[in-house]
Amino acid sequence: MDTEINAPSEPPVNASIELPAEFLRPHVQRLPTRLAKLGLALVCYAMSETWRALLVLLRRPPRGVATAIYYHKVPQEQCTAFARQMDHLLRWAQPIRADHCQQLPAGSRSVMVMFDDGWLSFVKNALPELEQRRIPVTLFAIADYLGCSAKSSADSRLVSAEELQRLDPQLVTLGSHTSTHAMLTTLSEDEALRELSESRSKLEQIMRVPVTLFSFPYSRHNERLVALCRVAGYQRVFTGVPGYALDDPQQFAIGRTRVDPTDWPIEFHLKMMGAYRWLPVAVSLKQKFRSSVRRAVVMFRALTGTPTAATP
Ligand SMILES: [Zn+2]
Repeated sequence: MDTEINAPSEPPVNASIELPAEFLRPHVQRLPTRLAKLGLALVCYAMSETWRALLVLLRRPPRGVATAIYYHKVPQEQCTAFARQMDHLLRWAQPIRADHCQQLPAGSRSVMVMFDDGWLSFVKNALPELEQRRIPVTLFAIADYLGCSAKSSADSRLVSAEELQRLDPQLVTLGSHTSTHAMLTTLSEDEALRELSESRSKLEQIMRVPVTLFSFPYSRHNERLVALCRVAGYQRVFTGVPGYALDDPQQFAIGRTRVDPTDWPIEFHLKMMGAYRWLPVAVSLKQKFRSSVRRAVVMFRALTGTPTAATP
């Protein structure tokens, strides 16, 4: 199967479509930010593990927990690191499908593995490692960009419809990632619903099976959009907000943690274990703090008669 997918003679289907620049922007994280997050994740993990150990001592089995992690690309030079991460996952947790909807066994740890966008490196580099370990995976594809190439980078092509059809349905579940990788929070309700519904129909026509899973591009979502996903017929949707999954086996909106083959081993372990689940609270506190500071500055200027900065 892999040989067929990598056949150099196969042309991209939509080579003429220009991919949006925002979509292609590399994910960069400053070292101090990364270290600060790691430190807080270590504290979170230590507290969780102490609590679980205490429950075991009290002969009360801790509840089963699940997390969802998502990748984008696995370049050739990062294959070994990705393989190591998958070995680590198997040592510590049970891989489960993204449409899993059964109660988790007490004391268990489960992980859902996903890939967003559908870059060719998924089939070329990641899938052989997942197949070898029988780790189920969900691929969220962008329906209108199948087979597209990024002009800025020779190795950046998205999988084509034909390549999707060749994927092993026992191992790979296909989900939608909209029609055009649109930032849904910036669209009208009608436009957002079109992105959700048309991408689903298009992928169903290609795969000839129901497409019931969806992930939000750029992790931008709100309650209105989650409700629209239900209207569009999805059975489960995934955000980019870290958190535990499947507290309720029928959970509709599930948070995920972004992972990369370049993650440090401890970083990957903590992400997989849900130790970054404090991030949404920290982001919300930061936003509240910033808006409080802005309000205080406006009030100070009003009281002292200080003019606001001139606009050009
Ligand atoms: Zn995406």
